Amino acid sequence: MKICVCDPLPDNAVQMMKDNGFEVDVKTGMPPEEVIKAVKDYDALIVRSATKVTKEVIDAGDKLKLVVRGGVGVDNIDTAAAEAKGVTVKNTPGASTVSVAEHAMALMLSLMRQIPMADKSMKEGKWEKKAFKGTELYKKTLGLIGSGRIGIATAKRAQGFEMNVLAYDPYADENTLKQAGIRLVTKLDELLAQSDVISLHIPKTKETAHIINKKNIDKMKDGAILINAARGGTVDEEALYDALKSGKLKGAALDVFEKEPLENSPLYELDNVILTPHLGATTKEGQARVGTEAAQTIIDFFK
Ligand code: NAD
Repeated sequence: MKICVCDPLPDNAVQMMKDNGFEVDVKTGMPPEEVIKAVKDYDALIVRSATKVTKEVIDAGDKLKLVVRGGVGVDNIDTAAAEAKGVTVKNTPGASTVSVAEHAMALMLSLMRQIPMADKSMKEGKWEKKAFKGTELYKKTLGLIGSGRIGIATAKRAQGFEMNVLAYDPYADENTLKQAGIRLVTKLDELLAQSDVISLHIPKTKETAHIINKKNIDKMKDGAILINAARGGTVDEEALYDALKSGKLKGAALDVFEKEPLENSPLYELDNVILTPHLGATTKEGQARVGTEAAQTIIDFFK
């Protein structure tokens, strides 16, 4: 069996596949037309987010049986084309959970204590103790929109800070959430009205596109904060800008954006927003886990 690793994968993951008898070629950074040429020789591809597995790629894959996406979302794979051709698509859903949950907490704490802002001010030679009065997480209400793997992992960490946790998730199992100490609400409006911090942990779907829009921001508590380490396009960035500018929202921290990389955004001019370049899953441990899960998926599938 021949496997093509199209985006960077840790060496130990490549070795794992070789140790199990697979022939593995690492061909990262191929332009789209080269992927279409290369795919002919392979039984499976492993991609992260850079390589786009388009219909053309799938149709050119004469021997192709499996595409593994190292990561959660499969937005860079034409899953309909894969299904039509009988090519299986798999991801590594659990590998990034802890890293993203920790990133959501890091964003939350950074906003509540204004750490990046205070750091910037100190490096400008200032000592502005009064300007950076923070807010505690203790006894505040965290509202999770989406309570799957990462939502629950974030709740667990927030509970360590003694936050109360609510979730809005029409597909969640109430008992699972109850056991995790999370109160499931059936109406988004209820969550919006009660939360001091709202954190998104949803995929981007037709239902969740711009779920944070002007109408829903207006239903939030004055001075609430918003965290998005889920998917770009779930937040209407223009409406968010207006709410941050007017003071309706006290702050926001975003790791994901409607268009990535983010360029020339009006958000750059605001002091009450923290931006990170889609770093949620980017940890040493998370990346290693993605690699081993992707390799194990290949091994299990063909064995
Ligand atoms: P998951 O599938 O375990 O959980 C997603 C949850 O969203 C599910 O419980 C689902 O029922 C819920 N949901 C779906 N539609 C909804 C709706 N309309 N309203 C409310 N809830 C809804 O996924 P996960 O592993 O927890 O990942 C969550 C998100 O984090 C995904 O979008 C994923 O792409 C993203 N993610 C981001 C990074 C990053 O680098 N920032 C890394 C990995 C994953």
